[in-house]
Amino acid sequence: MTAEALILDGNVVAADIKEKLLERIQGLAEQAIVPCLATILVGEDPSSATYVRMKGNACKRLGIESIRIDLPTETTTEQLIETIHKLNADPKVHGILLQHPVPEQIDERAAFEAIAIEKDVDGVTALGFAQNAFGYADFPSCTPAAIVAILDYYKIPVEGKHAVVIGRSPILGKPVSLMLLNKNATVTTCHSKTENLEDVVRLGDIIVAAVGKPKFIQGDWIKPGAVVLDAGYNKGNVGDVDYDRCLEKASAITPVPAGVGPVTIATLLKHTVDAAEKVAKRKSID
Ligand code: NAP
Repeated sequence: MTAEALILDGNVVAADIKEKLLERIQGLAEQAIVPCLATILVGEDPSSATYVRMKGNACKRLGIESIRIDLPTETTTEQLIETIHKLNADPKVHGILLQHPVPEQIDERAAFEAIAIEKDVDGVTALGFAQNAFGYADFPSCTPAAIVAILDYYKIPVEGKHAVVIGRSPILGKPVSLMLLNKNATVTTCHSKTENLEDVVRLGDIIVAAVGKPKFIQGDWIKPGAVVLDAGYNKGNVGDVDYDRCLEKASAITPVPAGVGPVTIATLLKHTVDAAEKVAKRKSID
């Protein structure tokens, strides 16, 4: 029987990140700069609309301006890229977030690549991804950065540990694997073609679930004492791990909701403030 697991409370970590931003936002106000995040939503996917609304509200609560751009479902790649170019050129806008997924006629990669690197606050461009791989990105993708922020906040040792990441998407599984590798973990990245997945997961000291399947990771896949981070967010507020069963085996675990989600939003706000400060610094040099 494992001792009771530590609940890694995302609300606590998010509050800590946001608290540290207040003074910085005030400092920017003294230079007449209001950090501003532009969010683009294409189509009418209800979950995406909820995420965008949550991000906008979080901005407002902290004194960050948020611009929301809603584009119709039938938007073309060219029209979306034109919108992004306008935001790139708008000096008032410091960060651009294109809500994923976009309707299928759109070349999502081309749209992501249109975001200027200095405004790529969610690390979606190839350059942002590469900078993250090298370990010097200004803005690593927000959810991977949130996972690392939770590990840091709770001082969970990563160096030398075996991290098993389930999922290899460009915005989550791959970048979090690289970030853990850069923190000297030994990393195994799993995906839909991984053989004997359960046995691989059983080797992990740190498990990151980024699969997009409710309650996919089972309690008996977890090595006793492992740390479990659940990035999943599925219908009905359910994560990618079977929380109740994994809780019995883990030494620490993120719940869903109130785990990785709020820290992801706080990280997005932090990146927007970081981007605004970079602009302020450039202004003061000119
Ligand atoms: P995604 O693009 O659909 O990627 C899912 C990954 O899981 C893929 O790499 C896929 O493998 C792998 N996978 C699927 N079925 C598998 C299986 N049976 N065994 C092993 N691997 C399997 O999803 P995503 O965008 O990375 O999101 C993953 C989850 O995180 C979702 O629940 C999403 O809602 C959540 N999310 C949360 C936040 C947050 O703020 N908390 C932010 C973003 C995403 P292949 O590559 O082989 O297809």
